[in-house]
Amino acid sequence: QLSGRLAKVAEYLPAGARFADIGSDHAYLPCYVCLKDPQAEAVAGEVNQGPYDSAMDEVKSHNLESRIHVRLGDGLDVVQPGEVEQVTIAGMGGPLIRDILARGEDKLTAVNRIIAQPNIDARSIRQWFYSHGYNLVDEQIMEEGGHIYEILVAEKGDPAGAYDPVNREKELWLGPYLMKEKSQAFLRKWQEEMAKKTYILDQMQKASTVDTEKVELLQKEIKWLEEVLS
Ligand code: SAM
Repeated sequence: QLSGRLAKVAEYLPAGARFADIGSDHAYLPCYVCLKDPQAEAVAGEVNQGPYDSAMDEVKSHNLESRIHVRLGDGLDVVQPGEVEQVTIAGMGGPLIRDILARGEDKLTAVNRIIAQPNIDARSIRQWFYSHGYNLVDEQIMEEGGHIYEILVAEKGDPAGAYDPVNREKELWLGPYLMKEKSQAFLRKWQEEMAKKTYILDQMQKASTVDTEKVELLQKEIKWLEEVLS
């Protein structure tokens, strides 16, 4: 049974997808997609031997070797330019996902959709999309097993498209779609963040030496959260 999180990532792949799943671990996502869709093909990339072996075993157990190519390598090194049209990268920190995209940018020539599921710091990925010609076309936030996950979907296109120029900094942080939708998971995540930030600000203001820059940043972020949560 695939996690709800990965099933949601899979929903954003088109029929007949030709995609690379980077950091595929057991290759659960490519197997799920290729079992459901006989036209789909995938590269499952893994940098570590253990997960690579698990991916191989999983793919073989479903007789999917002709459609899922499991490859050992760092990030997008495992694909050739033009080989895939979609990329999924799930279950890693936002900065690592961003670095994988940045380092493999030359492999993205034929990629028209990127689906990223960062465990933390989605902002770093939104910022990368924004400065590299990818339009954020959708976002999801969901809770599973006590964790809150964000899913970002981007396509080649006007990177400013999703953002209000006046509020861009805030939207890059909180997510332009998620902010409007204000789902239960979104509210929970940011209520908790606001409580943490308010506590930190309080502690900082009590300290003997005050880092004005940090205090101002926290005050700005808390104000944004108050606006969005009100
Ligand atoms: N994508 C799966 C998911 O969402 O359930 C697995 C997530 S698992 C927490 C992260 C996987 O990414 C690990 O198997 C790890 O070996 C792999 N990984 C980390 N850095 C990588 C990189 N630079 N290139 C390829 N795989 C990487």
